Amino acid sequence: MEKPEMTPKERVFAAINNMDFDVYPAINPTSVATVEAMKLSGAFFPEAHTDVRKMEALASVGHDVFGFDSVSPYFSILLEASALGAEVDWGNIYEMPSVIKKPINNISDYEIPKNYMSRKEFSSMIEVCSRLKNKYKNEVPVIGKVIGPWSLAYHLYGVENLVLDTILEPEKTKAFITMLSEIPISFAKEQFNAGADIIVWADHVTSDLVSAEIYKEFIMPIHKKAAVELQKYGPVILHTCGNVADRLPYIAGTGFKIFHMDSKNNIAEAVKTVGNRMLITGCINNPVLLAQGEPQDVKRAVEENIKNGIKLISPECAIPFSVSSDNLIALVEAAHNTKL
Ligand SMILES: [Zn+2]
Repeated sequence: MEKPEMTPKERVFAAINNMDFDVYPAINPTSVATVEAMKLSGAFFPEAHTDVRKMEALASVGHDVFGFDSVSPYFSILLEASALGAEVDWGNIYEMPSVIKKPINNISDYEIPKNYMSRKEFSSMIEVCSRLKNKYKNEVPVIGKVIGPWSLAYHLYGVENLVLDTILEPEKTKAFITMLSEIPISFAKEQFNAGADIIVWADHVTSDLVSAEIYKEFIMPIHKKAAVELQKYGPVILHTCGNVADRLPYIAGTGFKIFHMDSKNNIAEAVKTVGNRMLITGCINNPVLLAQGEPQDVKRAVEENIKNGIKLISPECAIPFSVSSDNLIALVEAAHNTKL
């Protein structure tokens, strides 16, 4: 292998901007905070969800030890929900946080708390973006993250309630998620301004929760608006788990630069569907391949992804805590060593 010549940031942005790069970049749009990573950094859950120094230390393992061409300091999906009134059990080193009590019983009554941006869950995320930017001297892209209004709505109100309301109270539901969309848009801008180079917009608009038509009618207009408002700050990665084949043509029309995709999808077909409107990343399987496979299997999957047209290699979602460092290092090495 030839010696890499670009900084991780140059490499990742070359791939995003459809320019030549030295080796295939490997990024982590979602968390790679494993139990091994916590032990290596001395930064453990639950403190590492909101303690700035611990967030920084744990995120750094992704680049310093595993070799990813990025660092991502957002580990749970409940930072915003907690700051907005949900009672959250922050879990432990083997368990992700969960909502114990939702703050909303009726979507018509909810008001966004004033000054929510100064709450610890928001402010620590903003501060850690700036610390990581300085620590890596702008050479390793900092990937920030926000929860989109659809996911935020069900964290605050419950999945069943929300899905039911799309049928019973469609106009109120649209108004509710449109109101909530102010939060991820503002939070994304704050993270970009603090030092994030890329933002992940996590919205679980997957086929087991919403139909393609509900996506198109209720959520896609918000995604388009967010893409326009955020484009001058930097690229946005839309993250959605699960099978998205029937709504991928809509997703490709949002204006978001990148889609972070689950391995349940057919990669070659997805790459064809989005064409040059969007870049696809992800698709490396977590529960079977990364959690239970061998480095050789991971290497083969990375090569397969590249053959199918993926330029930005990454795990499909936040990885299980039990994934070995060896498998993550193998993922990155396979990306960096596969011939262009
Ligand atoms: Zn996910």
